[in-house]
Amino acid sequence: MNDKNRYNRQVILPEIGQKGQKKLTSASVLCIGAGGLGCPALLYLAGAGVGHLGIVDFDVVDETNLQRQILFSTEQIGQNKAEAAKSRLLALNPEIEILAYPEELTAKNAQNLLANYDIIIDGSDNFATKYLINDAAIKTGKPFIFGSISGFNGQISVFNFENGPCYRCLFPAPPKGHVPNCAEAGVIGAVAGMIGTAQAMEAIKIIVAHKDFTPLAGKFWNIDMLSMENQLLSLTKNPNCPTCSKNKEEISLHYSSPVCAIIPELTKQQMLDKKQAVLVDVREIDEWEAGHIEGAKHIALSDLLDGFEPDLAKNCEIILYCQTGIRVRQAAKTLQTLGFSNINNLIGGYKDWQ
Ligand SMILES: [Zn+2]
Repeated sequence: MNDKNRYNRQVILPEIGQKGQKKLTSASVLCIGAGGLGCPALLYLAGAGVGHLGIVDFDVVDETNLQRQILFSTEQIGQNKAEAAKSRLLALNPEIEILAYPEELTAKNAQNLLANYDIIIDGSDNFATKYLINDAAIKTGKPFIFGSISGFNGQISVFNFENGPCYRCLFPAPPKGHVPNCAEAGVIGAVAGMIGTAQAMEAIKIIVAHKDFTPLAGKFWNIDMLSMENQLLSLTKNPNCPTCSKNKEEISLHYSSPVCAIIPELTKQQMLDKKQAVLVDVREIDEWEAGHIEGAKHIALSDLLDGFEPDLAKNCEIILYCQTGIRVRQAAKTLQTLGFSNINNLIGGYKDWQ
């Protein structure tokens, strides 16, 4: 096998040519998440001969991933996704270098990871990671190819490209309160495939940089795949953007893992018996004001996700409740990251209490 054969069908395009192919060979792309978006994006980048690929994913392949995460096969269930993706991509193209990072992208490792790559692809499925990628991309001066899916709707943009707008210029902060992910909201593979594929094409356009290529910078493409109605919105840079209006040194990275914790569940009686424990309501302020359990302390999940650190002893016993018990698991994970170790969940939340 030689390069000429493998890449022939794209090299004969005048916009790519041998010159473009050389640029692809020397380029590096970091994909955060080998899920519904990352799988198709990585397949097309590896196929096109992007010479250096990095894959960040701490999760393992689960059977429910296989309907959309097209890099994986049934026998890879239980394997780390970054490692499993690497072996599948090397089978497709052994001529490229692939590094697997079987870890979670966090405020601690983001800057170092992103610094080693030319372009960042967002294959994440949660706001905490998307905002972290955005901020780290600006801090390290890298273009960031955003992708998002929800039901039958998909969105894509290229942020921080040649000093263009960033994700926070459009949405300065993550939405407040609980936002359902794919596991709760549902997703169909073809929608993820469409957006992930478009992300790969944007990366190829940026790398090859032919004069006829217009990357989706300063634009935001939204498609409803039920009707195929789509909009191409124009974005402008926000001079007061909380991230890209600052100097790089002033940008500090924050991340609170959205991964849910598994914690002991208490019945109402077990809760009442634990007289020393601190009862914490993690619902939003309007819900708290509409009624709460007497003696509880209010610490909203949205504040925890924004980096609020509760003024409680790290070893104290905490009992969390929300409306039904879903938000508690995310709050518990955030508290565990802060060093709290003794956390419980009141079964059924405020709804059952009433
Ligand atoms: Zn910005």
